[in-house]
Amino acid sequence: MTDASFSLTGRKALVIGADSGIGLACARALAIAGADLVIAGLDAAKGDSLAREIAAASGTEVSYVPIDVTVEDQVAAGVETAVGRLGGLDIAMNNAGIPGPAGPLQDLDAKDFDTLFAINVRGAWLGMKYQVPHMLKGGSGSIINLASTAALTGLGFVSLYAASKHAVAGLTRSAALELGPQNIRVNAIAPGPVDTGLLHTMRAGRQTIVQSSPAKVPMDRIAQPEEMGGAVVWLASNASSYVTGAIISIDGGVVAQ
Ligand code: NAD
Repeated sequence: MTDASFSLTGRKALVIGADSGIGLACARALAIAGADLVIAGLDAAKGDSLAREIAAASGTEVSYVPIDVTVEDQVAAGVETAVGRLGGLDIAMNNAGIPGPAGPLQDLDAKDFDTLFAINVRGAWLGMKYQVPHMLKGGSGSIINLASTAALTGLGFVSLYAASKHAVAGLTRSAALELGPQNIRVNAIAPGPVDTGLLHTMRAGRQTIVQSSPAKVPMDRIAQPEEMGGAVVWLASNASSYVTGAIISIDGGVVAQ
């Protein structure tokens, strides 16, 4: 019989970009579901104390490793360290992201394009590049990338952010096609507005250009980061064993409009 359990007991997970917001909330959800975990991010002092806090709440093994996703050597070494500590890799979440510049596209700066794509796109690809060989060795895996509703629709005046998230969706779908035969599933979540520093920075930047309120959310509220955790646990678990190449909207109805 197929095991369609949501339990992650004994699974080995890495979350890159887990210092705050959605990544941190999803790391907590993975650990509560039973996964042993390495969280990675930019802030070593914060990371160590977050790891201790998640371990105490979940009873699983949790530790921190520094990774700046713009530095390939750090991604390679960080993934290697995580796999060494965990004894393998079943689940990887590539969450690191920044909002990028706001403004009419003709006014944006090429340097900002490069910085944004180095984190949101190249960073997600580098994560997968170093995660996949370990999953191939283990014979299975689940990778969860961070897209956005801005991967599914345009978003005027933050066009580079939308382009970066469309690229993440393309990477995700293409990786799913390549890795399906090896039983490695690759999916992305596409959150609508979530109450994090990134959202507030993006909204403030856009507000200076478009003097209007943000796009309407049918559920009439923004999400809390914890509301992303259920889908991530599902995508990480056997409960989603036939799901790959999917971009899962968690958006209060935004893309239904
Ligand atoms: P956040 O700012 O709280 O989290 C971003 C995380 O990325 C932080 O942990 C930060 O340290 C990390 N990060 C940034 N640059 C990095 C780098 N060079 N190397 C390693 N880590 C780095 O914001 P968030 O909203 O939680 O964002 C998480 C992801 O969710 C992003 O990819 C974002 O694009 C996506 N997203 C957010 C929303 C939203 O409304 N908040 C909506 C859709 C998608």
